[in-house]
Amino acid sequence: MSSRVADLFGVKYPLIQAGMIWCSGWRLAASVSNAGGLGIIGSGSMYPDVLRDQVRMCKVATDRPFGVNLPMLYPDIEAHIATLIAEKVPIAFTSAGNPTQWTAQLQSHGIKVVHVVSSVKFALKAEAAGVDAVVAEGFEAGGHNGREETTTMVLVPMVCDALRIPVIAAGGISDGRSMLAAMALGADGVQMGSRFVCSEESSAHINFKQRVAQAGEGETILTLKEITPVRVIRNGFYQQVQKAYGEHASTEQLKAVLGRARAKRGMFEGDLEEGELEIGQVSGRVNEILPAARIVADIMNEYEELRTSLCRK
Ligand code: NDP
Repeated sequence: MSSRVADLFGVKYPLIQAGMIWCSGWRLAASVSNAGGLGIIGSGSMYPDVLRDQVRMCKVATDRPFGVNLPMLYPDIEAHIATLIAEKVPIAFTSAGNPTQWTAQLQSHGIKVVHVVSSVKFALKAEAAGVDAVVAEGFEAGGHNGREETTTMVLVPMVCDALRIPVIAAGGISDGRSMLAAMALGADGVQMGSRFVCSEESSAHINFKQRVAQAGEGETILTLKEITPVRVIRNGFYQQVQKAYGEHASTEQLKAVLGRARAKRGMFEGDLEEGELEIGQVSGRVNEILPAARIVADIMNEYEELRTSLCRK
């Protein structure tokens, strides 16, 4: 399937699996890439030696292109950048930071750079910084999120109208139906996270995968804007955050409630009450844990069938 995004990355489908802390290691990334999409290792939860090993294992498991997501507020970001360069990772998805900082250096080593944005303002800054493409991620998305609460439906056409470089839509997309809608809004490709948390190859704890598969409408919420806005499942930890808000907690007090390694506790260790469970609104539409290759094939089949039937209408 030809599209600017598939051509940019050298993959069959313009379907990207999001890099997610604790959920997307080499197994998931390689499986998605082998199925014709673009798999991404989420490096935000990996110590530098862990990322290096993950990249090496991914290279053994697939000869197709894959990427690494780099949250720029990661404490050892320079070590991660050095790993990408040394290991010749072909694609970097940068997020949560300023794209002017690393784009030119990564590109000078032949690495394609995509930056994740949640507003037109930052999309324009990313384009000016020389990135190869942007991910326009709407309010529906899981994990770290924008402050403005702009939905995918509104954000994607705005970003597409403002930019010349390829735009990848994210937030609320989980199947062929939502992929086709994003492409109709002008996107050149899509990125999905929550759908791939519920894959057999995801490194998330089975408790978390099952919780996501059971989640219904309205079970997630965007919170902790004072620290970093994040979309989570409303569980015991979220109730603690709500209690702190009710007591007019300061940012420092909110940080104390969050503590350290909450995301690991929830998503990797499977503590569904005390852990932070980062997931998108679309978890309400994800009901099954499936092999990643089957997820990719189902999405692309549904996408093609719907596109054909819409053309006939
Ligand atoms: P915390 O400060 O609460 O905990 C740090 C966690 O990261 C620990 O579990 C730790 O593992 C692990 N870790 C990996 N490498 C390092 C390192 N070099 N220094 C310290 N800790 C490390 O952070 P969070 O869990 O909230 O976030 C972790 C990272 O993930 C951040 O860089 C953040 O930017 C990123 N992130 C990205 C998101 C996205 O949407 N892309 C969403 C949320 C977070 P251990 O417990 O084994 O020590």
